[in-house]
Amino acid sequence: MEIRTERVTDGVHRVADGLVNFYVLEENGRLTMVDTGWPRSGPRIEQALGQLGRSTSDVEAIVLTHGHPDHLGGAVHVHNATGAPIHVHRDEVARARGKAKGSSPFALVPSLTLQLWRPAATRFVLQATAQGFLTPTWLEEVETFDSDEELDVPGRPRVLATPGHTPAHVSLHLAQRGVLISGDALVNLDPITGATGPRLPHDVVNADPPLCRSSLDVIAAADADTFLPGHGDPWRGGMADAVAHAREADAA
Ligand SMILES: [Zn+2]
Repeated sequence: MEIRTERVTDGVHRVADGLVNFYVLEENGRLTMVDTGWPRSGPRIEQALGQLGRSTSDVEAIVLTHGHPDHLGGAVHVHNATGAPIHVHRDEVARARGKAKGSSPFALVPSLTLQLWRPAATRFVLQATAQGFLTPTWLEEVETFDSDEELDVPGRPRVLATPGHTPAHVSLHLAQRGVLISGDALVNLDPITGATGPRLPHDVVNADPPLCRSSLDVIAAADADTFLPGHGDPWRGGMADAVAHAREADAA
């Protein structure tokens, strides 16, 4: 699978690893990785950092939006290569360690199976399976953070609680860059249906669908002109507009 890097704005890079994104924040030559792709993304993460003229030794911190295997996948690989701590929301730790009720990726299998008539869902499930989704390397040591905290890591993201997709999913706000990294609280490609444009991921992958919808209010209120999703391309425009699109797609 080919990895693709793309500059979003000063000090913010997107890395697309197949159907999932992660992001690299840069400050004074030091890097924060926001999410880490699939369980088998490790070698491609090193490739991506190389494309950015960097290496794993420049990574100072890893921050996760949530504990699904397509987002925490390469975290232990990068941690082992660099010693960089992995930062996780306090209430997402058990899931990221594979110890929460429902953290097993097999929990998603029955509902996903019912979606396999959709070509996009089949593509996603095949890629996920090939990339180790069902056998992730769960985290052990983590650093925890709380909602509304500004993290003392390169890029200094502020934590916005956007629960629903998982019980303690977070988005990361880079106010000075006008960027919101929304993870799977708001995506620009639903990997299950293949639909593009700002939207929620399909409810088969959402732990608490009503809570996902109320978290959209948090995103709508964020002061940013770009959102960077876990799946799909960067989306440029105000957050209130992005959320209006998502609500319209939801009602359709
Ligand atoms: Zn995801």
